[in-house]
Amino acid sequence: MEQKFMRGLVKATMGPGELVYREDLPIPEINDDEVLIKVHCTAICGTDLHILDWDEWTQKRVKKPVTLGHETAGDIVAVGKNVKDRKVGDRVSCESHIPCGHCYFCENNMPHICKNVELFGITQDGAFAEYAKIRSDCTFLIPDDLSYEAACLFEPMGAGVHGAENANVKGKTVLVSGCGPIGLAAISACKHFGASMLIVCARTDSKLTVAKEMGADLVFNTKKVDLAQEIMELTDGIGVDVAIDVTGSEDAIHTALRCLRAGGDLVGVGLPTKPVTFDLGNEILYREIHLTGVSGRMIWKTWEDFAEIMNGPYFDTEKVLGEKYAMIDYKDAFARSRSGAPGKNLIYPDASLIPEK
Ligand SMILES: [Zn+2]
Ligand SMILES: [Zn+2]
Repeated sequence: MEQKFMRGLVKATMGPGELVYREDLPIPEINDDEVLIKVHCTAICGTDLHILDWDEWTQKRVKKPVTLGHETAGDIVAVGKNVKDRKVGDRVSCESHIPCGHCYFCENNMPHICKNVELFGITQDGAFAEYAKIRSDCTFLIPDDLSYEAACLFEPMGAGVHGAENANVKGKTVLVSGCGPIGLAAISACKHFGASMLIVCARTDSKLTVAKEMGADLVFNTKKVDLAQEIMELTDGIGVDVAIDVTGSEDAIHTALRCLRAGGDLVGVGLPTKPVTFDLGNEILYREIHLTGVSGRMIWKTWEDFAEIMNGPYFDTEKVLGEKYAMIDYKDAFARSRSGAPGKNLIYPDASLIPEK
């Protein structure tokens, strides 16, 4: 490759602070097990904002300057010599949890919760750049009928799908709290997996409208109604079988527990920014609540399920995407993400690839 340097967005300071736009980053050199990807587009994640804010989670993980960006899709332009199942020209998205391959969890079919996991675009350089490298077994071939833009959604929204997978929702009444992009994935997944009644709550009417379009049977604005009271009326005073929390908010989690029947499943998908306190005896133990966490996606079951969901009747990619920005305009893109405006915002290293409206 003649090009030696590339453009990218780097978190340079180990403390709170914005990204730096660089034009002098070396093009990543791949090892024998890696592929080099020419990035088509990369979505901004809430985690990227947490990293800029340098929250506690970030402080434990980010130890050196890093090119951010982990929700990406692009084309393979080079493969290492051990790589057999990927070739130049393949369209791929990336699993951001890079498992070690040899710990207890990796050896027991749980690589997504690997003890030594590295994180693409967080603990190692990612895809807010013209090129990114990653181990080839962390790439997912994008089905032909999905766009690059849709493929950027596997990683972030897969957590919502994984939440629905963990909850075994078939034939059950389900509450999903929160309907940002990950919530919408959980909603369409719950319908796909056969939830009998799907109730969605949030604090914004416009988001609830989209939730309905993506498959929610009933929606409630928790600013306006007493959710637990509504749900008890709907379920003959029993409560829902499953509650999936996508907010990570302490208030929302306690509310979900009040809506959940004894013996029900609470699945946590949304990442709290600080510790959440429970009344363990009264809220969980006496009621035999099963509490399950979700970390990323099952590799590759969640991805395969999500590909089906994206092609199914409930999920609508366009409703989940926000605005599209050239990489040089990253400040506008991040400002929109911070504003809470709906939709995943995408950054394109090559502005000519931004689809016309
Ligand atoms: Zn993310
Ligand atoms: Zn491992």
